Amino acid sequence: MKFKCLHCKSENIIYFNNLRNLKSKISSNFKKVNKSSKFLFCKKCKLFQKKITKSYIKNCIHIYKNYEKAFSFNEIDQKKSRKKNLFRSDILLNKLKKHLKFKKKIKILDYGSGKGAISNASLKFFKKKKIYAYDVENNLDEKINKKVLFINNLENKKFNLIFLSHVFEHLFDPTKVIQNLKKNMEDNAKLIIQVPNFKTSPYDIIVYDHVVHLTKENLINFFNNNGFKNIKVFENIFEKEIILVCEKNNSKIKKKKFLFNNKINKNVIQKRFWYIEKILNQIKREKSITFYGSSLLSNFLILNLDKNKTKKVQIIDDNYLEQMKQIDRFKIKICNLTRYKSNNDKIYLSISKKINSDIQKNNLYNLKKSKSINLYYNL
Ligand SMILES: [Zn+2]
Repeated sequence: MKFKCLHCKSENIIYFNNLRNLKSKISSNFKKVNKSSKFLFCKKCKLFQKKITKSYIKNCIHIYKNYEKAFSFNEIDQKKSRKKNLFRSDILLNKLKKHLKFKKKIKILDYGSGKGAISNASLKFFKKKKIYAYDVENNLDEKINKKVLFINNLENKKFNLIFLSHVFEHLFDPTKVIQNLKKNMEDNAKLIIQVPNFKTSPYDIIVYDHVVHLTKENLINFFNNNGFKNIKVFENIFEKEIILVCEKNNSKIKKKKFLFNNKINKNVIQKRFWYIEKILNQIKREKSITFYGSSLLSNFLILNLDKNKTKKVQIIDDNYLEQMKQIDRFKIKICNLTRYKSNNDKIYLSISKKINSDIQKNNLYNLKKSKSINLYYNL
């Protein structure tokens, strides 16, 4: 049977047979995965995706079963500011304020609710609302468990606003899920999707359980061709994420249209894989390594280091919540720059070249001043 593109159903697909060299991957909950997965690239809609096989689905479900309930470190969501007590989802809703005005009392669905980060932010943000959380099992934080109604069946239920926060990229059959969700939408209901941005987060390809690696164009094509209107895309709310807001289109689906993004093609993807392999090989030779930033790629590289050969691994991160994490494999504590002890090691920066905060700028300046440190900006 010929494989069809997960989004546009085209059979015009390129198989990547030479990407298997990178054996190890990482799961979205930062665990090492040694399973293989096959990649496909749709020539029609330019979507880079995993080949959905029985074993791939089984391996992903295994990852989800072992998702720690306390993934976000006893907090319901990742906190962005210590002073204001702002969570990421609070920031999201405030930034989308203009698009979230409703006159009447609304029914909100947090689809794939997890601990309930979106539900929690919605409780604070909306005045007249009833919030429903849907997931395979109820993992809602006890702080909101009584204020949000957990459901595991969506039949005959209608909502005015549906959130899919870090859910869409995990769907094995996105068309089916979204078409079903459409039946749960009232007329003029809104849908909000939050996913990793493949353009600004190229290392998304090493995340095993991300079924699709999405660009803005991929998302617009999908929702346009699935009967949604007034599509708005935001790439600047979070640096490495795309947020899409759209409305249910009640008129019949028009002729399919596609936007093209030629920046992501087979060669770009191939280069990204080679680059990750290159850094991994380089890092394996170091006796002492420091990572600046506890990103996905830092975690991936650390997970692949040989525990017996590598003498010292350190991680610096300015985000205090990140400092509470501990990378199990090496029992590494994450420290901030003031607690960091230099031992002439190379520092691998896992932050983007675009440095936003003044604290980061200042820290980097201090790092550079110390002559004993080699900096690698490329991570
Ligand atoms: Zn396609």
